[in-house]
Amino acid sequence: MTSAANHSFQQVADSVLAWATAGVDLLFPPACASCGAAGHRICPTCAQLVTPTPATLCQRCGRVRETAVDHCVACADDATFPLRRVRAAALHLSPLREWIHLLKYEGRRDLAPLLARYLVAAFDRADWAQIAPHVDAVAPVPLHAERLRERGYNQAELLAAGLCRQRVLPLRTDLLHRAKLTRSQVGLNAGERKANVEDAFTAAPACRGLRLLLVDDVYTTGATLCACASAALAAGAVEVYALTLAQPAHADHHDHPDQDAVTDSMSTTSQPIGATS
Ligand SMILES: [Zn+2]
Ligand SMILES: [Zn+2]
Repeated sequence: MTSAANHSFQQVADSVLAWATAGVDLLFPPACASCGAAGHRICPTCAQLVTPTPATLCQRCGRVRETAVDHCVACADDATFPLRRVRAAALHLSPLREWIHLLKYEGRRDLAPLLARYLVAAFDRADWAQIAPHVDAVAPVPLHAERLRERGYNQAELLAAGLCRQRVLPLRTDLLHRAKLTRSQVGLNAGERKANVEDAFTAAPACRGLRLLLVDDVYTTGATLCACASAALAAGAVEVYALTLAQPAHADHHDHPDQDAVTDSMSTTSQPIGATS
């Protein structure tokens, strides 16, 4: 199939999906996942409550800092931090935190296209302009086959698919594989998280020569993204970037919450992002 044919096929698929969703919505009008307002899965009022990542971050690892820095101590070493750049669209605060929970644990896969718009908004920011044209493939962080069977879908893949659809990027679910069934990272400290995902991922030889953009829902210590990136680089990927929906709200999230400093600096620099439906 030619790329033009591919493109028109995608347009047809998109409009069929849109019509199918509209049909379902006519039968079962959606209610806002946060406030219950009728007519939207995420209403415009609640969508405005999402807190974008502030501009005061580490340019490499994307972690929120008191001031913007090129590198921080956490990511200065290529061996321990194999990603060229990580960004999270927003902070892991209400209401986004609850929407991610619904998507991951409550079967609300219908929220994924709406949440993907926050990824799109983050990807459209000026600091991706030099990188975006060179991204060869978008690879969602994979789930282990067993967890995929339980959940029925990979939320990172749904988010990545939304980004790829809206920005015409190639979605590749064949490049990374989760070989080890790891326990949830929730409740583990940084060292435990790293050990938990060690050797959990393998990368296909098709990674060779590619610049990859990893997509995941939440970026906490980066252990999962780093494990994926290391596997991809070992398989010959040229560079690996990552984009996630959310990251913790405070700079030293595993030590002590220091949210006030962050939210103060943010209020003057950030605009609401994303869109609603
Ligand atoms: Zn609402
Ligand atoms: Zn950093």
